[in-house]
Amino acid sequence: MSIWIGPMQKHVDGHKDLTNYNEIVTIETPKLVYIPLLNGMNTSFDVLVKEGDQVFVNTKLAVRNDKMTVPLYSPVSGVVKGVQKIMSGILRPVDHIVIENDGKNETIQSFAPLSIEDASREDLIDFAMNAGIVGCGGAGFPTYIKYKYVQAVDTIIINGVECEPYITADYRMMENYMADMIYGAQAMIKMAGAKEAVIAIKSTKKALIAKLNEAVATVENVTVKPVKDAYPMGWERTLIYNMYKKRYDKLPCEEGFIVNNATTAIAFAQALKEAKPITQKIVTVSGDGIAKPANVSVTVGTKVSEIVAALGGYTGEEISCIAGGPMMGKTITNDQFVITSYTNAVTILKTQPLDPIACLRCGKCNDHCPAGLLPVRINEAEKGKNTDLLVKLHTNDCIECGLCSYVCPSRLDVTEGVRRAKRILALKK
Ligand code: SF4
Ligand code: SF4
Repeated sequence: MSIWIGPMQKHVDGHKDLTNYNEIVTIETPKLVYIPLLNGMNTSFDVLVKEGDQVFVNTKLAVRNDKMTVPLYSPVSGVVKGVQKIMSGILRPVDHIVIENDGKNETIQSFAPLSIEDASREDLIDFAMNAGIVGCGGAGFPTYIKYKYVQAVDTIIINGVECEPYITADYRMMENYMADMIYGAQAMIKMAGAKEAVIAIKSTKKALIAKLNEAVATVENVTVKPVKDAYPMGWERTLIYNMYKKRYDKLPCEEGFIVNNATTAIAFAQALKEAKPITQKIVTVSGDGIAKPANVSVTVGTKVSEIVAALGGYTGEEISCIAGGPMMGKTITNDQFVITSYTNAVTILKTQPLDPIACLRCGKCNDHCPAGLLPVRINEAEKGKNTDLLVKLHTNDCIECGLCSYVCPSRLDVTEGVRRAKRILALKK
């Protein structure tokens, strides 16, 4: 099916002022860091170190061992204490390499830097693979895969929209590392054989748009395009439709586009220039459940509980801890999960009872679904375990954006019903 999209987007309360203008707080790297053997939903890795090994900052620790190579690098120097299963941001326990940080920060180089001028398209693809560059917008998809198998791409879209409420990490990264983002965009142009890169940013970010326009004024092939402040504008389909009025079936490259998050472009540039894998992150930790909401500079492998303590703790007893933003993130049962190379946010909210009432048949959830689905019908089919109907309703096209729950006047958790429906279909396979 070709997913259609039209006006199904909505302005949602941003709550961005909680963190947008505050100083970035540096979180001290803890004594123990935990590197999850996890990339997206994949947990299949070859571990290259063993208990007792000495490691350094940038030692290669493990490599994803299916068709998508993703290496994991050490963010600290110290000694490997073993592998331990703990809760992860995908709502289940996974293996983590545990490293005792010696505090010395001794650093090695695991790959050489590369200049765009000296590199071929293939060199850049190999580099992105070996450096472990992944989508930093929360998904963690290996960046090189988007480039390796495509031909005839015209435009790289640098996605700086950051449409989820509360999250401002991309905004701060773009402000602080503008030159790196532009360098990363130029590398991506070459890596795709594309003609141009376009930085997409919400039209409401006027000060940043002005700075970006100034920064790209003398740069060949990189421009800035403001887009409407609506949710889920950061979703690739919504973004491409709004920018170019184009729709695609499976992948943006069918219409000549590759979309990369702005922070991914920055990470790619820093790897190229400084031979630096993603071992430090700027992460938004926000919501009404945390005493001092802030963007934090944090070492990959740090437990969320350490960040919470540094930000003054929780504001109450009943708290929801969400890996990611409140719309698309996953609520985790404790704060023992860690920051990964692709974590962009942790949202901490006071738990509010939903007190749902019966469905009013208003159709708002259907009207707002950006994937063109009928969430209320999917919920009904899920309750009746009608798998044939779930398939007919294209349940698996749901991107779990949360909009159907957000707009529901009956306060029903419609999204959770669709998630359950997807799980039913997954178990059927
Ligand atoms: S969560 Fe899924 S079903 Fe609900 S609005 Fe988003 S895409 Fe549509
Ligand atoms: S938005 Fe809520 S009340 Fe309206 S049809 Fe959907 S589930 Fe029912």
